[in-house]
Amino acid sequence: MNREKNFTRIASREEPWDIVVIGGGATGVGCALDAASRGYKVLLLEIFDLGSGTSSRSTKLIHGGVRYLREGDISLVREALRERSIILKNAPHAARKLEFIIPCYGLRDELFYGIGLKVYDLLAGFHGIGGSKIISRAETIKRLPTVVQDGLSGGVVYTDGQFDDARLLIDMACEASRRGACIVNYASVESIAGSKESGFEVSFCDSETNAEYTVKAHSVINAAGIFCDEIRGIANNNAEQTTTYSQGIHIVLDRRFLPTDAAIMIPKTADGRVLFCIPWLGHTLVGTTDTPVDSPSFEPQPTDNEIDFVLETAGKYLAEKPTRADILSSWAGIRPLIRTHPNVAASKLSRGHALFIDPNGLVTITGGKWTTYRRMAEDAVNKAADIGGLERRKCVTKDLAIPPPSIIAGEPLHPDLPYTTADIERAVRDEMARTVEDVLARRTRLLPVDASAVVGLSQMTADILGRELGRDAAWEAGQMESFSASVAKYLPDGNANRD
Ligand SMILES: Cc1cc2nc3c(=O)[nH]c(=O)nc-3n(C[C@H](O)[C@H](O)[C@H](O)COP(=O)(O)OP(=O)(O)OC[C@H]3O[C@@H](n4cnc5c(N)ncnc54)[C@H](O)[C@@H]3O)c2cc1C
Repeated sequence: MNREKNFTRIASREEPWDIVVIGGGATGVGCALDAASRGYKVLLLEIFDLGSGTSSRSTKLIHGGVRYLREGDISLVREALRERSIILKNAPHAARKLEFIIPCYGLRDELFYGIGLKVYDLLAGFHGIGGSKIISRAETIKRLPTVVQDGLSGGVVYTDGQFDDARLLIDMACEASRRGACIVNYASVESIAGSKESGFEVSFCDSETNAEYTVKAHSVINAAGIFCDEIRGIANNNAEQTTTYSQGIHIVLDRRFLPTDAAIMIPKTADGRVLFCIPWLGHTLVGTTDTPVDSPSFEPQPTDNEIDFVLETAGKYLAEKPTRADILSSWAGIRPLIRTHPNVAASKLSRGHALFIDPNGLVTITGGKWTTYRRMAEDAVNKAADIGGLERRKCVTKDLAIPPPSIIAGEPLHPDLPYTTADIERAVRDEMARTVEDVLARRTRLLPVDASAVVGLSQMTADILGRELGRDAAWEAGQMESFSASVAKYLPDGNANRD
């Protein structure tokens, strides 16, 4: 996946693209992969880095969603459970099974959650990845040695999926590219003219050079996540709002808070949600929240209230109560949710997806979950093919393997880290990383895991990027400055000077 070569392809293409996809999150990259694997000529445009929006800020679960089961959203749970098994099969390097334990403080809880999870097992049916069961107090303590033991009666254990969201997304983009998709990041879509009858013209700006481009397309898929209504607005001024926004945050703690291979599922928080404490990349990931926000933002930040809520809720279940000083990194993401009635609370809005077709034929795909990205892409590409008058071709992604990145030898970045200098070179050469943050936040996950610790690697990363991209010392200095601003955003106030 090479940005320069792709710009050459864009500039030299005179005939219309079959499909232009706007947005390089899970949904957009899923659409590019689906379309390319059917043989369509597809161009994907992402305003910042691939995956830099909501899709790198998830809880990293491939799940049906036990919570949605409680809310009676059976068809969503069933569909997501089916997709879970497809992701585990097609991308085993980026996704794995994970055991979750609900600690119970009374027989009533054990029975309630034990029965609920049996229903979850049943819904998975043929796609099940491990049955649930009630376990004893001793077994719960053995598997979760740091759980609060006072009043603990037992636990309910079930299996779901965990994945590395940004890593899977980059691997999907690479596979789409190998299959012919033309993908460019730092390309901001600014206008969409025309219609399905006359054909579309999409104009965008290359933010690295400020050059403007206009491309032709038979069909356009708007997969801009929380910005999808903005995109509809630039094509059709009267577009009604389809999407509403809900922010969720995560904090990352040391592994000592959960020194095990099982995750804790806290089934009922003060706001009626669930909270997870999950082993993640040698650390403990805790989240999330569901805070309604009025407008979309490219740089959402955790609020003090959200951080306090997560710390307090986790502290009720963890023997050592985490404090702000324990936070190694924290970040926020905003969910695109289908707008229904304005009075419905964000946490109660469905996580199902929907397609909206504007009068000019622009296809918008929104809502949904990371877990269901493939299904969303299938629906969107089917619709785009109809609208663009393209030859109808069958979706093949159910059985399409997403290969892992190649392993190349290099110098270790740090004795404690699994990455080498070759990983950075590959990120630039093959995975379209353009900035220090692209490498350290999404091609590797060092920034979201431990924001202060990664600072020591930024100069080396800037040097390799500068060399690979042919940039000068002033560019590298600019990178160092903007990366330190990014680091500050991953650290709640007070932790910036942590040793
Ligand atoms: C806190 C939180 C936790 C979650 N946890 C889970 C989970 O554990 N499991 C799960 O299945 N789901 C989870 N989700 C849901 C999941 O993350 C989202 O449904 C999914 O990432 C949305 O992907 P997307 O591609 O639609 O949006 P995005 O990832 O936001 O992608 C949209 C892209 O469009 C780009 N864009 C915007 N405007 C333009 C423009 N003008 N030109 C070009 N590009 C543009 C943006 O930069 C962005 O990259 C979670 C969500 C949140 C917020």
